Amino acid sequence: MSQIPTYVTAVPNGTEKGVYMAVDLGGTNFRVCSIKLNGDSTFNLTYSKVAIPKELMVAKTAQELFAFLAKQIGHFIETHHGDRFDKDTGRRITESAPEGYQEEHVFRLGFTFSFPVQQLGINKGTLIRWTKGFDIPDAVGKDVCALLQEEIDKLHLPVKVAALVNDTVGTLMARSYTSQGKNGALLGAIFGTGTNGAYVEKLANLKKPLQGDYDKSTGDMVINTEWGSFDNQLSVLPNTPWDIALDKASVNPGIQMYEKRVSGMFLGEILRLAVVDLLKKEEVAFFRDENSSSNDWKSTTNIGSDSSIFTQWGLDTAIMSVAAADNTPELSTLRQELDSLLHVYSPAIDDAQAFKAIAGAVARRSARLSAVAVAGIVLQSGKLGGASEEEPIDIGVDGSLVEHYPYFRDMIYEALRSIDGIGEEGAKRIRIGIAKDGSGVGAALIALVAAGMEKK
Ligand code: ADP
Ligand code: MG
Repeated sequence: MSQIPTYVTAVPNGTEKGVYMAVDLGGTNFRVCSIKLNGDSTFNLTYSKVAIPKELMVAKTAQELFAFLAKQIGHFIETHHGDRFDKDTGRRITESAPEGYQEEHVFRLGFTFSFPVQQLGINKGTLIRWTKGFDIPDAVGKDVCALLQEEIDKLHLPVKVAALVNDTVGTLMARSYTSQGKNGALLGAIFGTGTNGAYVEKLANLKKPLQGDYDKSTGDMVINTEWGSFDNQLSVLPNTPWDIALDKASVNPGIQMYEKRVSGMFLGEILRLAVVDLLKKEEVAFFRDENSSSNDWKSTTNIGSDSSIFTQWGLDTAIMSVAAADNTPELSTLRQELDSLLHVYSPAIDDAQAFKAIAGAVARRSARLSAVAVAGIVLQSGKLGGASEEEPIDIGVDGSLVEHYPYFRDMIYEALRSIDGIGEEGAKRIRIGIAKDGSGVGAALIALVAAGMEKK
């Protein structure tokens, strides 16, 4: 795994205060927000979102895209913080200074940039390559924080790009700030389109040379694991005919093999491939009836030839949540979804039961594999054997899969209990909670940490 040092060396504990900004360039949208940290584990978030114009995703120069981003930041400040911003001087107005402003009273901004970067410092990182439909060759190899700062400065905005943020680190920070207890969280993890985790490691355990500046006083460093690429060689991961088919037809065969068994982008596709295989079996009456007497609704099931089940990526993982949540005797909600989403007409109870069973198996395997990553980090931290018996080991999670799939966390706990070195007692000490807004409050908190480093 990449195990990328993030140059973040401390997590918050909920007492932090101040107003910070955060922006998130992730794919389709650009989000701008300001966050007021109240110092009591609560915060207030003001938010705006704009779609990135298609032509800017493939602009000739990086400058065109970043100028657009800076302009949005300017709009946001005028709209939401106009009272504290002097447009003529480009200064943030503060009450304390007699001249009406102080150089250090600019907004610190955390920049969540969800593309592969080589991080060189807390607010420095060069773009390795674009993904998700962006293609501006001019930007590759450049420091994305500097690109944004240049455009901000041209507009004389009172903003300093203080931190470059990965969404997993944002999740870790958000969880540390908002959860109860005197210690911060150990791990921030994403189970959404993809999966990844960032955790707090002892500096002494780091073997790589660190190029940039960082605060050594805490003795810790947050590591972005990039665990989606765990076991690409498949020495331990399970491998079914449907995993093999999915990988072969993917844009990056042989890569992100753990992610391809765990995250939302892929679970629906694994299920789809298994369903299509079943449909090919003559001897199995799946989504098909002998005649109306074998259908509990006294009809005959058939599947439309236009069903998206026959198209790659045609089955969204969200329907697996519907299948898991429907525990009615007739599975009527699931049957309605099969009808409206997948054009399976008049599905019988046994069709719905079979679909639910396969979907459940794919999701349960995902949750159990998720537990492997969580357990690996809990064991590595040594906290289970530690002295602070009462303090829970806190883990923040984000992403639609863990948030919306019913009992996903319960299945993670079930697996944790059966892992050597964790067991019943260990699992009780692990507290997994949803931490939303990693790219908002989390990014703001990293900007705060970075501001602290500037003073030192
Ligand atoms: P991102 O990872 O881009 O930040 P999300 O956390 O919303 O976005 O994750 C999106 C992924 O979650 C998609 O792959 C989608 O299929 C899946 N997903 C969306 N809704 C659900 C749901 N209700 N149950 C399970 N998976 C879902
Ligand atoms: Mg996300």
